Amino acid sequence: MTLNAPTLQTPPSEPLGRETLALDAGLVIDPRTRAIQPNISMSVNNMVTPGEGAFSVDGVEDLTTLPYMYARWTNPTVTELEQRIAALEEAEQAMCTASGVGAISATFLGLLKAGDHLIISDVCYAGAAELARGMLPDFGIEVSQVNLSDPDALAVAMRPNTKLVHCESPCNPLLRFTDLARISEIAHKGGALVSVDSTLATPVACRPLKFGCDLVIHSLTKFINGHGDAMGGAVAGDQSVIAKIRARSGVYLGATLSAMNAWLILRGIDTLYPRMKTMSDSASKVARFLEGHPRVKRVLHPSLESHPQADLIARQMDLPGALISFETNNLAATEQRFADRLKVIHYAFSVGHQRSLLTLLETDVMMKSTYKLEGEQLADYRAYAGDGLFRLSVGLESVEDLIRDLEHALRD
Ligand SMILES: *Cc1c(COP(=O)(O)O)cnc(C)c1O
Repeated sequence: MTLNAPTLQTPPSEPLGRETLALDAGLVIDPRTRAIQPNISMSVNNMVTPGEGAFSVDGVEDLTTLPYMYARWTNPTVTELEQRIAALEEAEQAMCTASGVGAISATFLGLLKAGDHLIISDVCYAGAAELARGMLPDFGIEVSQVNLSDPDALAVAMRPNTKLVHCESPCNPLLRFTDLARISEIAHKGGALVSVDSTLATPVACRPLKFGCDLVIHSLTKFINGHGDAMGGAVAGDQSVIAKIRARSGVYLGATLSAMNAWLILRGIDTLYPRMKTMSDSASKVARFLEGHPRVKRVLHPSLESHPQADLIARQMDLPGALISFETNNLAATEQRFADRLKVIHYAFSVGHQRSLLTLLETDVMMKSTYKLEGEQLADYRAYAGDGLFRLSVGLESVEDLIRDLEHALRD
């Protein structure tokens, strides 16, 4: 047995299944203790030999090939997590960041400069939308919000200086999908890269790089850690692109993930597959229950035949995922019922927790605070969301308990 092999004790000759990679990719058996579970390496500093640190980070081709020197550059525990994520996304490399928004801003600020044009999905995570619209123009970066579920709209919006197209699939809270292969084709023809926020899908349900996208981004805070106790983010793609993001945004902007959080997320990712399978299954059952409820006007879940993009979902997704969005009669009264009566589901923001979370996202409020859509884009948002959607992130509770909880809360 080789104790200090970089991956497994004896590197297997057959390619490993994805469930095995979620446990073992990047796993380092500690040569001193033979510990199987990853040790946490909290040390900020490592011994160096004279002259070893005498270089400019921006000029290094791949920081991850250098010895560990200082934790803002590279850290062994963070490296293990990065290798695990790269393996699951079938990417050459990944870089981890302090949060999901950290991964998005690291990508934008690492790759774009004054005079460049960014196209961002008209509906995506609030932090990304507000960063792109509110802050990037201050740095001379042009930003357009485009409905990326419509490839023709992207073709029209492309400019000679478009450098990056950022989408979210499925997007939050509409659960509307982007045709990743079509979008990549159009963006690449115009010389732009494509980044996809795949937080809601996770690599269990979708691997965007195989559809031609260049970068896949995750909030590790959500399903990948999956236990609501650590924030983190990741961006994965080709080594040369990740190297640039790592040097500029990791080292210079300091978006680095801490070793402690990397270690917590490594523990979470071990059970990503069984968690996603159970939660997707339960979400499909809850979605069917909601679809049959008289108080419920519309249910969006990728498992439902009524989803307007069922064909695309079948091509792009291996699992429907744990998120359900639904509209009810009298949103305000129903919101109060949920807040007062739910006993198992938590009335709380966010998604990807092991416990079920539910909140209301009112369309008018979303338009004022985050999206500011008009005309056709607003009409498309309303076609999905009506006056507002309850977003339910299904957890690992018994599905019978979840349905009973909702049934009780929705009763007269
Ligand atoms: C939560 C979330 C983010 C932001 O992640 P943080 O870890 O909170 O910074 C980005 N994208 C999506 C789709 C999210 O759900």
